[in-house]
Amino acid sequence: MPESARLSASTPSAASISSIDPALQPRLVVTDLDGSLLDHHSYDFSPAAPWLARLKQMGVPVIPVTSKTRAELIPLREALGLTATPFIAENGAVIGLPPGWCHARLDRPGSGRDGVVIKHPGVDVGFIRARLKVWRERLDIRFTRMGELSVPEVMELTGLDAVRARDARQREGSEPLLWQDSEAALEAFRAALEGDGLQLTQGGRFWHVMGLSADKGNAVEWLVKRFTALRGRTPLSLGLGDGPNDITMLEAVDQAVVIRGCHDLAVEPRNASLYRTEATGPTGWAEGVDYWWGRDDRRLATAEKDAAVFLESCSLSTVL
Ligand SMILES: [Mg+2]
Repeated sequence: MPESARLSASTPSAASISSIDPALQPRLVVTDLDGSLLDHHSYDFSPAAPWLARLKQMGVPVIPVTSKTRAELIPLREALGLTATPFIAENGAVIGLPPGWCHARLDRPGSGRDGVVIKHPGVDVGFIRARLKVWRERLDIRFTRMGELSVPEVMELTGLDAVRARDARQREGSEPLLWQDSEAALEAFRAALEGDGLQLTQGGRFWHVMGLSADKGNAVEWLVKRFTALRGRTPLSLGLGDGPNDITMLEAVDQAVVIRGCHDLAVEPRNASLYRTEATGPTGWAEGVDYWWGRDDRRLATAEKDAAVFLESCSLSTVL
């Protein structure tokens, strides 16, 4: 790298840096978990572990973006070594910020022992439940909310063990439900929810009700803005997912990877920088990161030094 570029790199000007060498941009990864970073059945992520270790070493945050609840994510974040990075839970209805990502003036300190601050870009789950009760009576429709199912029933429907089934019921910003009525009734229900500022999205077995603006893509855009505000530069973002509910996330990033799914659902994000993997699950995950960033090793090493400086200034800004 020419000396002039190195000098510019120490000056916080996003335009000058990206025009010299895009690899000097800070980076971040946003990723779906089930069927992407984690094997759909076994939850194994060993094929992705070497990349996870390298990204950590380089100071590149890897941010889980999932339909799971915060309670379900806690043990997974620990297993994946991602406790210092933010997370997006409940399909975008919940954003968790670790201390290094908090803004002294914008965030109240986190109450948990890990100091994580929780943001709800959508609406409170209490409001969702109240409106569901209203529409069930008014439209005379049939569905069962996850909160109305017993833990054994959730276990049977999802295949989760008792602890994870209990964690899956701890909703903060969205409510899954089992639909037990006609297609026509579903459309009437959808229209009624829209009037309340709520949306209905299809998951595997459940339908999910959440705020209209609470999707994975909006939550990712929010985090990218937060990253930019804290570090003074817009990151180069890479997103990886395998399902239809990952599409908004894959449209919100600079580079996207659709991981081959274990399903027949169409995943067609509008993103000009799109790669489809051959492999499924965490092997496909590593293949996707490799495709976009595998040849950037030497240049990423330079970005690594930058990241260390930014991390330092970032933690300072949270103290001040
Ligand atoms: Mg998935």
